[in-house]
Amino acid sequence: MENVREVLQELMSKRKLDTKFQKLMAAVYADPDVLKFCEQHKTELSADSVARSASKLYEYVQELHKYRRGEPTLMPGYEPILIVNNHLIEVSYRPSAQFLATEKKREVQTRVKAVNMPKMIRQARFEDFFPDAQRKQALNAALDFVQAYEKDPRKFHKGLYLAGSFGVGKTYLLGAIANELAAAGFESTLVHFPSFAIEMKTAIGENTLAEKLDSIKQAPILMLDDIGADAMSSWVRDEILGVILEFRMQNELATFFSSNFSMAQLEKEHLQVNQRGELEPLKAKRLMERIRFLATEMTMVGINRRQNGN
Ligand code: ADP
Ligand code: MG
Repeated sequence: MENVREVLQELMSKRKLDTKFQKLMAAVYADPDVLKFCEQHKTELSADSVARSASKLYEYVQELHKYRRGEPTLMPGYEPILIVNNHLIEVSYRPSAQFLATEKKREVQTRVKAVNMPKMIRQARFEDFFPDAQRKQALNAALDFVQAYEKDPRKFHKGLYLAGSFGVGKTYLLGAIANELAAAGFESTLVHFPSFAIEMKTAIGENTLAEKLDSIKQAPILMLDDIGADAMSSWVRDEILGVILEFRMQNELATFFSSNFSMAQLEKEHLQVNQRGELEPLKAKRLMERIRFLATEMTMVGINRRQNGN
């Protein structure tokens, strides 16, 4: 094709531009993007091939204008482009940069498996963590963990046991750790332990206990949130928590905890007393040994950051 402008003008004038379709085509042949494309590919195209590609060019111009105006298109998130295939012009769609960024974000988010956790953990970031003095130590320990884990994920890395009162940001910090690890390609599972315990009781009736428990205990990085928040039956303590801790210790898997109790309080006030009020100090000791093997205690103090509705 020698002179692109001439060919396109010829196509406009040759047909009597009186029908609606032909009027629409006039705008297509005059479109600067169409013109540019035909210029770039003039050696591969002939006047005939441009004429035969009319419907494709029309689709391209329509979709491109909608895309640029931010209107819904045939392929949302994809930008139309023209290609030459077998001497004919065709429309292809390529994902926009924005679409790819959103996809990437979604993919990263799927690496954070949250079971009964508050939605806010999705937004939790180290950068936004209030860096007051009392919390700095926990933040630094979290950063150290992430750095060491990313460097050598197959080695055993001791997790953290975040202890502190309501609203100091324990759950937030767990979320921030999980999101940071997700960005580096690692999967974590965050479980609100009291809700999970209730779910496990229901799972016995449904015969899904083993399956549900397995997926939690085998998670590459596990975070048990709010441990000790509800009274735990001996069954939950021994058959759920005990089984999870045993497996994680044997397999040296990274495990985190958060609790309103210190480790000492958890042992004495929570794990040691069964639902009949009897003391079972040995069982509590065994569990605490596992927790101590898996995680380092960090006390977080500070004001309650929780606002209404949280
Ligand atoms: P905890 O688990 O210790 O009870 P949360 O992590 O649930 O506390 O924090 C309570 C609220 O305060 C949440 O809405 C959280 O988003 C916010 N928050 C807590 N700590 C921080 C922090 N350091 N930086 C930013 N937001 C925080
Ligand atoms: Mg919490």
